Amino acid sequence: MQKVVIIDDEPTTLSILEHAVSTLADVILVSQSTQALSSIRKTKPDIVILDINMPEISGFDVCRELKSSQDMRDIPVIFITSLADSENEQIALSLGAIDFITKPIDIELCKMRVRNHLTIQRQKKMLTDVNSALEAEKKQLAITLKSIGDGVISIDASGDVTFINPVAQRLTGFSEKEALSKPIESVMDLRDTATDEALLNPALYTLEVKRPVAMSYGAILISRHGQRFRVEDTASPIIDDDGTLKGAVIVFQDVSEAVEMAVKMTHLTNHDQLTGLPNRVLLHDRVVQAISRSFHSRQSIALLLIDIDNFKYLNDSLGHQVGDFVISSVAKRLNNIIDDRVTLARVGGDEFACLLTAEDSHVGADVVAAEFLKTAREPIEIDGISHQLSLSIGISLYPQDAVNAEEMMRHADTAMYRAKSKGKDRFSFFSNDLQRAMHNRLDMELKLRRAIEANSLAVYLQPKYDFESKHVVGAESLVRLIDEDGEVISPDQFISLAEETGLIHQLGKQVLQKSCEFVASCSPHTSDFKIAVNVAAKQLENPNFAAEVQAIIKGAGIAPESIELEVTESALMHDFEQTRLILESLSALNVTLALDDFGTGYSSLSYLRQFPLNVLKIDRSFVIDMDDEQQALDIVTAIVRLALSLNMTIVAEGIETMSQFNALQALGCHLGQGYFLHKPIAMADFFDKFIANIEVA
Ligand code: C2E
Ligand code: CA
Ligand code: CA
Repeated sequence: MQKVVIIDDEPTTLSILEHAVSTLADVILVSQSTQALSSIRKTKPDIVILDINMPEISGFDVCRELKSSQDMRDIPVIFITSLADSENEQIALSLGAIDFITKPIDIELCKMRVRNHLTIQRQKKMLTDVNSALEAEKKQLAITLKSIGDGVISIDASGDVTFINPVAQRLTGFSEKEALSKPIESVMDLRDTATDEALLNPALYTLEVKRPVAMSYGAILISRHGQRFRVEDTASPIIDDDGTLKGAVIVFQDVSEAVEMAVKMTHLTNHDQLTGLPNRVLLHDRVVQAISRSFHSRQSIALLLIDIDNFKYLNDSLGHQVGDFVISSVAKRLNNIIDDRVTLARVGGDEFACLLTAEDSHVGADVVAAEFLKTAREPIEIDGISHQLSLSIGISLYPQDAVNAEEMMRHADTAMYRAKSKGKDRFSFFSNDLQRAMHNRLDMELKLRRAIEANSLAVYLQPKYDFESKHVVGAESLVRLIDEDGEVISPDQFISLAEETGLIHQLGKQVLQKSCEFVASCSPHTSDFKIAVNVAAKQLENPNFAAEVQAIIKGAGIAPESIELEVTESALMHDFEQTRLILESLSALNVTLALDDFGTGYSSLSYLRQFPLNVLKIDRSFVIDMDDEQQALDIVTAIVRLALSLNMTIVAEGIETMSQFNALQALGCHLGQGYFLHKPIAMADFFDKFIANIEVA
């Protein structure tokens, strides 16, 4: 119940007022003005109703006193005045009165006014109560935010910091003063652990999406002083009751220690103690991952299972310590061969596994396996005695051999036992087809290597006819590999292999050498015979290529003009600047440069014009189709016109019929080459047939 103190010296007025107010509040009546203040102080009323004219102390004086006292100045005062008293009303208002009740008193009116003021008072009180409760809550919240172990930062809707607690200050390195009003990105430097790339601050993200978000796993916070903390966090938007976005708050904690611990733990459970290599568990995970990636990328993966031959014997006869030493030595040697992306795991006592995920791993797997075998054979010293180890390796491939990780492991195991049964110190593929293909490839490589070492590659020559003079004016050198039993192997079967293995460099040199020598041998008969030699893309990657060509030409004592080099479009596409430099220096030597297989690549002639090319060879495929395809004829016509306008010499290759020959001649081709004219033949035959009969001038 609210309280009202009524002060008046007239008992009738007092009782009328009491009657009017008593239903609204507790009423305290004071008839003596001297008692007024003490009674107000004692009762702390919600309203004071005060008569102006009183003996001893006037109502104005009471009011003045009241307003000057600290604890009572807020108590509202209603004065009782007489009707004619407008001057007094002004004074009363200036003293801080809130209302008047005029005599004679109208009870209903008086009641209404008092009720209104009581209501206002009540609401004022409620408001103060709510305010102080809010204030208290705010304080409590601030204390909480300051004392919790998480970092807390809040931002306004434009992303500027409005609050930062001490933990956040420590982790970011910004003091409250420094951080406030700064954009949050400049206070929180968040990066991705793996890539170190800047991450979008979740607080900003949450502003965007207007819902709570969690930070990406693996975020690090870099403090202003360069300290790095692994952090985990969540951010929430701050939205007020009418749905306006006010800002966001981000709460984050330093999980560096927890992460470090977790990493250590997973390392322990995933790695082998002796070698530090991943164990079977981790390998299995990686195989599963690789399979799922391979499923999308369509690249095959290989699993090599590697077993140390006769390990049991070593271990039993020389002891476990020696066994451990052997295992860790082998682990080290194998590890040295592979690069970081390859998983090498220890999957059992003396068993390792290697997961290859690179493209073309059926080519790569045998190379890696061969390297493993080689490194294992290097002598190992045990107690001063040199031992030689060997390995047996089984290889299975996904998706060729297996549908899942388990099957891959099983099939690698089967293949490994096959390697053992075939006499150890070797590797074996699970699949027979691949085994055979790989075998043939290795066989071919061996043949090629031997031929290069013995400088026994054969060079066949295919004549080039001049359409105008109908004479043989040159030839193209085409390499052949002659088998032990005299079989002639076509370059299609070994040129790409030579490029992959790097043997192409020597092969190319030898063919050029032989071609130059041939030109030299022709000199008594003819001086303007020209020989064209093919150059593979890989050869142009050699920065010394031009110098080597120069040396060979010089060594043979022939004119550089008699040598033409045929390069393909794809070779030119490789490294534009380096290729251009090489071709420029060759051109400076006065060697002729021909573009081989023209029309099969993608390059535009304007691109090709940036290279110093003199000759254009129309690809065989267009010539073949010319007879019965209008389109091919159109293409050849266009190529010829274009080349003529560029002052290039045009060679048509693969001419097999008379009609092709006639059409090309009619179009204005300069030179022709093909089975219709002549097949490639051995150098000696070529000499006898085309050179020897040229009259010595
Ligand atoms: P290419 O440079 O386009 O050589 C022309 C190929 O077409 C030769 O095959 C030649 O025998 C064949 N040919 C010539 N006239 C006709 C014809 O009328 N009809 C048909 N169907 N074929 C004809 P070859 O000797 O088997 O050489 C194949 C490819 O091997 C060559 O294609 C060339 O790219 C490469 N090659 C040959 N020798 C060498 C070499 O010494 N170094 C390099 N890097 N590549 C070489
Ligand atoms: Ca060629
Ligand atoms: Ca060609």
